[in-house]
Amino acid sequence: MNETTIRPTSRHAPRPGGPDDGTDAGARPQVRPAAEGWKQQLAADGRPALQFASPRRAQPETHLADLTPAERVAKVEALGLPRFRARQLSTHYFTHCTTDAAAMTDLPAAGRDELVSALLPPLLTEVRRLRTDDGKTVKFLWKLFDGALVESVLMRYPGRITLCISSQAGCGMNCPFCATGQAGLTRNLSAAEIVDQVVAANRAVAGGELADDPGRRRGSQPGPAPAARETDRVHNVVFMGMGEPLANYKRLMTAIRTLIAPRPDGLGMSARAITVSSVGLVPAIRKLADEGLPLTFALSLHAPDDGLRDELIPVNSRWKVDDALDAARYYFEKTGRRVSIEYALIKDMNDHAWRAELLARKLNERGRGWVHVNPIPLNPTPGSIWTASEPDVTAEFVHRLESAGIPTTLRDTRGKEIDGACGQLAAAE
Ligand code: SAH
Repeated sequence: MNETTIRPTSRHAPRPGGPDDGTDAGARPQVRPAAEGWKQQLAADGRPALQFASPRRAQPETHLADLTPAERVAKVEALGLPRFRARQLSTHYFTHCTTDAAAMTDLPAAGRDELVSALLPPLLTEVRRLRTDDGKTVKFLWKLFDGALVESVLMRYPGRITLCISSQAGCGMNCPFCATGQAGLTRNLSAAEIVDQVVAANRAVAGGELADDPGRRRGSQPGPAPAARETDRVHNVVFMGMGEPLANYKRLMTAIRTLIAPRPDGLGMSARAITVSSVGLVPAIRKLADEGLPLTFALSLHAPDDGLRDELIPVNSRWKVDDALDAARYYFEKTGRRVSIEYALIKDMNDHAWRAELLARKLNERGRGWVHVNPIPLNPTPGSIWTASEPDVTAEFVHRLESAGIPTTLRDTRGKEIDGACGQLAAAE
């Protein structure tokens, strides 16, 4: 993901570091998180409101992708049809990305439309498609059956295609630096609404909508380009779009089981290629660890000290930094999968060198080799208190982590020009 581990250009004299020593903290201001240009919802106790449960709203019609393979057969049989029709429909949907009854010529014409509308009701209506990075990043805005809006972002990297998807319409976690949280939670997505984002992206990729790698452009390599296209599909899915995936746990897991089910029962993706990112819902992280799936887990930490994290990530009022890190470590122990720590670097707010050192200490206390850190310069709004760290400060932050033995990869998020980068998904028509 444009991963460039950068090193400091000039070595700063090592600072003693530490919140109280006055050196680093004193040399640079401490900006406190605050909502700018919108009013953060507060709970009765005066703290930022948290919404864990989805408002009770109608869910879309049941779709093939909401059902297990056995349930699909049962549904087809309930319609008075032979069981193998379920498999045929699954092949059309997951393998050929089609929901068009007219294209399903292996199904008898009589009753075909009824079968397709019973099992493949339309879920996502495209409202808008925006492109950037020479066509290698595409943001989709989707309207759901009830008018709720969600976005997904498709990105081509050398050798792989990544899709960033939404798990909820809106988000109830109320993080003041993230655009998605500002409007609150509209509702949970159904499992099929989650899966359908991937199917729709595969359809777009198969249709040549995503620009090719320069090295793979037609004519630049021997052999026919269209043949190569057939294997072109989404390889990685990251739950870093709208919503807190672990707050929609049951549907999230149903969707994931379908993403990893071999074709034609699902999309045949590798569990390792699916990243679940969370603000730190500790019991749900532990539950995810116990699922026995080698998914990738990312924790949005953003501050190693509760003093700041309480303000930056409202859910920290429930589960503290140490609780979240213990759960992340548990995830590693149960799955053997190295955990990612996400850290948006925000100028003068969380980017102090002492915080890099405190973070490294807290990670090292829990063992070696179990974790890596992904700092992401905040997607900037110039003049706001929410501005990306300066390059030398970013470099120093990375350097302090690396010096402490923490593998660190600076990420440059894609799609800023189309408000498709991390934290910018706000879905307005
Ligand atoms: N709710 C989940 C997933 C969605 S956000 C979570 O919080 O992990 C995906 C990532 O983008 C999170 O790490 C989030 O903190 C980060 N993010 C949010 N706003 C951002 C911004 N303005 N700049 C950079 N990253 C941001």
